[in-house]
Amino acid sequence: TVRTAMLEVADLQAFYGESHVLHGVNLEVRQGEVVTLLGRNGAGKTTTMRSIMGIVGKRTGAIRFQGRELIGMAPHRIPRLGIGYVPEERGIFASLNVEENLTLPPVVKDGGMTVQQIYELFPNLQGRGSTQGTRLSGGEQQMLAIARILRTGATMILLDEPTEGLAPVIIEQIGVAVRKLKQRGFTVLLVEQNFRFAATIADRHYMMEEGHVVDMIPNNQLAANMEKLHTYLGV
Ligand code: ATP
Repeated sequence: TVRTAMLEVADLQAFYGESHVLHGVNLEVRQGEVVTLLGRNGAGKTTTMRSIMGIVGKRTGAIRFQGRELIGMAPHRIPRLGIGYVPEERGIFASLNVEENLTLPPVVKDGGMTVQQIYELFPNLQGRGSTQGTRLSGGEQQMLAIARILRTGATMILLDEPTEGLAPVIIEQIGVAVRKLKQRGFTVLLVEQNFRFAATIADRHYMMEEGHVVDMIPNNQLAANMEKLHTYLGV
């Protein structure tokens, strides 16, 4: 079956003030795929995500989500189309407890996960409803941040380095959750530095260097491309 792209980014250029950061990013994500953006620090991965969400000063080119052009659209309208963004700095309410974090966010679109479904996806959060955000571990905070976005009804999720700073056992739990989301038909675009983790969940990998996508490697060809990968990631 031929699946059309859910998200299509074509010749995307982005600027922070005078600073030209993305120089023509091209990529696509099909419905139900898990796709990663890999690359060194400063390659432009976060800026690509921020550009999709409309939170970069100026951008040109095309970003189409389900056929709709996002460039020029008011940033507050973009999540309502069903795209959710979990930034690297997570974005939970630290002074609120887990339950409050899960019930407070505005439902921007019908069909968001229920709190019960969230607890099934992230068993670690179950029973922690009255625990305050500041008392959660880094992994639990990451899970809560993803959960908040799932509550909004987003069907495409952008995750910026969800595994950063987390212990291997927690990274594995996040991997399990992402695989479950894929089984349920969610579409995921993931920024990662940890390509070993990326290889356990992704269908394809885009390599970024200096504001460009320079290569695309299907996951089943990753092992055969290790040398290339090491060059791109500088590891
Ligand atoms: P990292 O893993 O470090 O976040 P990245 O691949 O996500 O790396 P970006 O954060 O997108 O890279 O940064 C791309 C370039 O844009 C870098 O050179 C960075 O210094 C620059 N940059 C990022 N944010 C800003 C900003 N707010 N103002 C000016 N330049 C910025």
